[in-house]
Amino acid sequence: MYDKNNVFYKIMQNEIPSKKIYEDENVLAFYDINPMYKVHALVISKKLCTDFDDFINSATAKETADFFKSVSKVAEILDVKNSGYRILSNIGENANQIVKHFHVHILGGEKLRD
Ligand code: 5GP
Repeated sequence: MYDKNNVFYKIMQNEIPSKKIYEDENVLAFYDINPMYKVHALVISKKLCTDFDDFINSATAKETADFFKSVSKVAEILDVKNSGYRILSNIGENANQIVKHFHVHILGGEKLRD
């Protein structure tokens, strides 16, 4: 069950500030408050989904394609395309998902650890 009492929902509502990178009607991208690498951004869908599985099972094919195209667009804005980057999404307890609003991390800007 999606709970609006999470930090990304509040960021989306502009109740909590964030360093925004990109926004359109479907997605919002901003810098992670606690970066693991030189480039560490988060891309969230504006659909109220708890995680990747919730998103992929409720989004239309177009919404899904649009979301991942936006992730690629944000990587381009961040200028990590030539040097390479990683996308990841934590799902649930074993993955240590902290924020229960579907998001993808974009990591890069330096050599990433395995
Ligand atoms: P995950 O849920 O994928 O495990 O991680 C959530 C990520 O959100 C973490 O990397 C954490 O640093 C980031 N985060 C948590 N709270 C905030 C916040 O208030 N602002 C921003 N920009 N990032 C946050």
